[in-house]
Amino acid sequence: MARCAARELIEWSGVDAERLIDLLVERALGEVSNYYYYTLLRMHLVGVEGDALRRVIDDAREEDRNHFEALVPRIYELGGRLPATFAGELSGLGGLRNLPAEADVPEILPILLKSAEDSVRGYTHVCGLTSGKDNRTYNLALAILHEEIAHQVWFLEFLGRGMAEQQARHARIISPFVTQFLQSPRVSALKAQSFPV
Ligand code: ZN
Repeated sequence: MARCAARELIEWSGVDAERLIDLLVERALGEVSNYYYYTLLRMHLVGVEGDALRRVIDDAREEDRNHFEALVPRIYELGGRLPATFAGELSGLGGLRNLPAEADVPEILPILLKSAEDSVRGYTHVCGLTSGKDNRTYNLALAILHEEIAHQVWFLEFLGRGMAEQQARHARIISPFVTQFLQSPRVSALKAQSFPV
């Protein structure tokens, strides 16, 4: 492998670079999988309850896309690579495959919650591996972790309070923690843009 200064630096600080890159690649593929399955899911949600859940999923979906885009440059900086092909079955949302035409909200929520828990666990692990040794990766993983915890809270709130929660739900800023790591924060910029009537 070609010499990689960023990788040498973190190895010098005591990070197992091979393990870290594997974890970051796994996380990145999980994020893009989530994006795919959320997109699929939102086409299957119907009715008032489905509409309410779709609003939550739309926010989580945009943030997971941002997480993918924020992770990829760091993976390449460390000398890692993404696989050339993508199977799309690596995320905790794989349980959403074979959705019926009209998705059942109570059936879906546990899958969403489990996936959010897996993400929180994964980023907590990355933070633990890099804390005090690789500040750049640590700060990125911590920013994503904040947003994954928020996804978990949204789904729990929906489970507990259902549509009442959604009626009180205000417009959110997308990726309040991760935007600073995006090379082109397209999503946030678009949201902030006001279109003339
Ligand atoms: Zn994410």
